[in-house]
Amino acid sequence: MSEIVNIAANETTGTSRRSFLRTAGGAVAAVTALGAAAAQQKPNAGNEVQLSQIHASTEAAEKAPGPFLPTNRRVGFAIVGLGRLSLNQILPAFAKSDSCKPVALVSGDRGKALKIAAQYGIAETSITDYAGFEKLKEMPGVDVIYIVLPNGMHREFVMRAAKMGKHILCEKPMANSAAECEEMIAACKAANVKLMIAYRQQYEPMNRTLEKAVRDGRIGTLRSIVASNSQDQGDPTQWRLNKKLAGGGAMPDVGIYCLNAARFLTGIEPEEVFATVVQPKDDPRFREVEARCEVIARFPNGVTATFTTAYDTHRSAFLRLEGSDGFAEMDPAFGYHGSKLRFVKLMDGKDTEMTPSIEDKDQFALEMDHMASCVTNNQQPHTGGEEGLQDMRLVEAIYKSAATARSVKVTPPTGPTRGPGLPAMES
Ligand code: NAD
Repeated sequence: MSEIVNIAANETTGTSRRSFLRTAGGAVAAVTALGAAAAQQKPNAGNEVQLSQIHASTEAAEKAPGPFLPTNRRVGFAIVGLGRLSLNQILPAFAKSDSCKPVALVSGDRGKALKIAAQYGIAETSITDYAGFEKLKEMPGVDVIYIVLPNGMHREFVMRAAKMGKHILCEKPMANSAAECEEMIAACKAANVKLMIAYRQQYEPMNRTLEKAVRDGRIGTLRSIVASNSQDQGDPTQWRLNKKLAGGGAMPDVGIYCLNAARFLTGIEPEEVFATVVQPKDDPRFREVEARCEVIARFPNGVTATFTTAYDTHRSAFLRLEGSDGFAEMDPAFGYHGSKLRFVKLMDGKDTEMTPSIEDKDQFALEMDHMASCVTNNQQPHTGGEEGLQDMRLVEAIYKSAATARSVKVTPPTGPTRGPGLPAMES
């Protein structure tokens, strides 16, 4: 095994080291650039408060968060479905958001909704159940409806929200099939409302840094991607193991992170997939959906992505991009917090590692702030319906390949699937 020399982001000895730091360290610069670009977009810009620095110049500078929008100018979100993601991640993320606020709740359990409303300062009159979903139309301050329901319910609630003329943020996977995604896109277009799919990774600085580093050739020519996103499911009665409510097993739920990352990090689209699934007959959890899915996707120029996703293994999540001159690795990857990124490249005859220091940001706050900015500035979301649709086309091809034991060709999308809505990162 080759020795790997670790260098810190601020080490500057040696010419080739300096150049690696310029390239890999460009990742750090990119984050700074991203911060600057994001700051330009910040609502209420100009109202930043700067305090004097009291530590030595050798210490990291302190920076106040914000500027935030005051409550009365924030974009109002109705949260539909008060399950784990809403309670544990999305609702707490409003405290980190620059420009969003929760204003309404939709739940089948009024007792639970009342407790949550009391915690977040939401009026009792702004709670409804699923049958009364259309009441959101008249509720004060509802600009965006955020659908956080089981996958198999996304289509119905997106269609109903579009009919009300409300902008929509919908959790991943977008729906159970590409045909459903197409219907949802058409309905939102016809109603002239924005539709964004909640691919939180695409708004997170570490992923954006990695995307830029690959695009700038920092690991040379990209050859392959290897990834895994797996976990161990318990309760066999939960909706994630029900085909109608989930659309599939591990693949559309957690495997989609590997698939979507391979697409947005490379900026190219798979042309062909080969896959196999494992559905143990004797395990009550997997009567309807697969436990595991292994995928090889071929991209143009011979780039390949190989990933595994599982519902019956201990939690494991990593991503590695291998290039002609080095590799970039995120391990762990795909989580809400705590991803770690490193670059390794041969320098002075030694594999040299560079670990950029990137501030951990709340991905749900970033994603909701992007939606709010699209609504306020009338822009198309970066991860709109087309992005969700392309993933579903690929998921269908993956299942077809597994069912036929043959590779399946995929027609690439005719245009870009991602919108122009994110500030560009400097090169
Ligand atoms: P969950 O099971 O914790 O919550 C689902 C909610 O839907 C519950 O409040 C439940 O009462 C409600 N519900 C309404 N009708 C239902 C029905 N017929 N069957 C089951 N539940 C019903 O699930 P979750 O983890 O909050 O996931 C919700 C959505 O968010 C899914 O689409 C999932 O893929 C997505 N998700 C995304 C992320 C992410 O990181 N972006 C993470 C987890 C989940």
